[in-house]
This record gives sequence, C-alpha cells and structure tokens, in this order.
Amino acid sequence: MLGLKYKNRDKIFEEKEVNGVPYLAYPVFESLGIVNHGFSTRLGGVSKGNYATMNLSTTRGDDPEAIAENTRRIAAAIGVRTEDMVYTHQTHTTNVAAAREKDRGKRFMDTDGMVTDVPGMCLVTFYADCVPLYFVDPVRKAIGLSHSGWQGTVHKIGKITVEKMTETYGSDPKDIIAAIGPSICQDCYEVSEDVIDQFRESFRKEILPELFYRKDNGKYQLNLWRANEEVLKEAGVKKERIAVTNVCTHCNPDILFSHRTMGNKRGNLSAFLALKR
Ligand SMILES: [Zn+2]
Repeated sequence: MLGLKYKNRDKIFEEKEVNGVPYLAYPVFESLGIVNHGFSTRLGGVSKGNYATMNLSTTRGDDPEAIAENTRRIAAAIGVRTEDMVYTHQTHTTNVAAAREKDRGKRFMDTDGMVTDVPGMCLVTFYADCVPLYFVDPVRKAIGLSHSGWQGTVHKIGKITVEKMTETYGSDPKDIIAAIGPSICQDCYEVSEDVIDQFRESFRKEILPELFYRKDNGKYQLNLWRANEEVLKEAGVKKERIAVTNVCTHCNPDILFSHRTMGNKRGNLSAFLALKR
C-alpha cells in the first residue's frame, strides 16, 4: 500500500490509513485491545519543502500552523486526542519521566523516555533514524516510550524505561510486550571506531559479533535493532515478546524522514502510545 521496502517477510507491522493519513501499527499491540498506538510517515500532512508533508516536530523550523494541522490529522487517525499528548525534548539522555494527569500538554525537557499509567494520556516521541522503543504492560496497565539513538542504546535507555515502569507501577518485566520501531538498519548505519569502543564496553563480549562488523575502510556497520533487543532482554523482557522492526528509515527516504539521507533539512516522524480510556 505505502510501497515500503521491508528487510524481511516477517509480519511486524500493519500499514494503516485513516482519512488519507497512513501510519504503521504493530499487530502485537492491536491484539491486546488496551492501547492506541502508531508510527507516523512523511505522508498525509500539509507541511512543505523539506518538511513535506507530515512533520510533527516544533523544533525544526517548520510552520507552527502546519505542525498543528499534521498533529490533528495523525491524532484522529490513531484515535487519540491532541490535548492528551505529552512530549519529550530529546537530547540523547537516559532520562525517563513519569507522566501524570496534570502533565497533559507538557514537554519534558532533556528527556528521552516517558512512562504513564494514566488512561488516554498519549506519549509522543520524535525520530529520523534513531530507534523508537515501545512498552506495554497489560497486567499493571502501564506503558512506556523511549528514544534510543546510539547513545541511548549504549547507555541502555530501554532497560532504564523498564526499570522505571517497575519502580513506578510495579510492572514485572516478564509481562511487558515491547516493540523496536522503524529506524536505521545495519546495512545503512556506518559508524566510527570511537562509537564501537563504547559498545564493546557496554555489551557482553559474546554478542558483539552480532552488533557490528569492521569494513576495509576502518569504519563499522552497527546494528541498533539487535543491540536494543539485547538491552530489552537484559531488562528481563522475554525474547518472544519483543517485536523487532523490519523497516529502515534510510532505506525508505520518500516515505520516512531519515537524518542520514536529508541531514538537518528534514522533519521528524513520531511514535505515539496511549492506554485506551
Ligand atoms: Zn537501511
């Protein structure tokens, strides 16, 4: 339908479209029946030029009225209310905020993850190659959403988000259903040795060959999907409850915003997650 290129044939995503606004959803979350969620694309919005068309970030220089209209459209498609949204101001930290009733409309500064148990409250985070991490605890009825670039991955924001859900809502990691969202794939993600050194320190030696390989030019190809899966398993989430993306932002530059494709002249995609009211 969207013409997305998938890395394999696994049925990780469902491509949905409501009122001409496409988005990606996870069948594993849909089947739970307790959350509204989605991941936006570049399509179905009103932004122009480099932001075309569905830019959802207010920090990239786009027209505020266009962003507001885009936000209304995607909210209506996913089934959430714009006034129930809470946002991160992401700076590659491992800070995870617990959003409470009074936080509707708030932007948490220097924060890269959020958790909540408030019905209706919609967590919103921003992306253009970095990795979205979704968490749903159907037992305690709590959710989490985190932004995990290479720095968040090295410092294991996924694990910190699970710990925050345990601390705040009593979540048992074994109950959590998690998803690793559309982001840059290993084939597209070249990094230098200083980045790899940090992964060598942070992850157990046995799995390093699955995380990266060295090339003739002295650079490395890094697998953020596999690394985040490992982070979630370390946190106690069961492997069979982790849905790993097979959609790469950089492989699909006409449909998804990619920093590695467009540099800073681009909009942002968003991840959305809310407990149903
Ligand atoms: Zn790719």
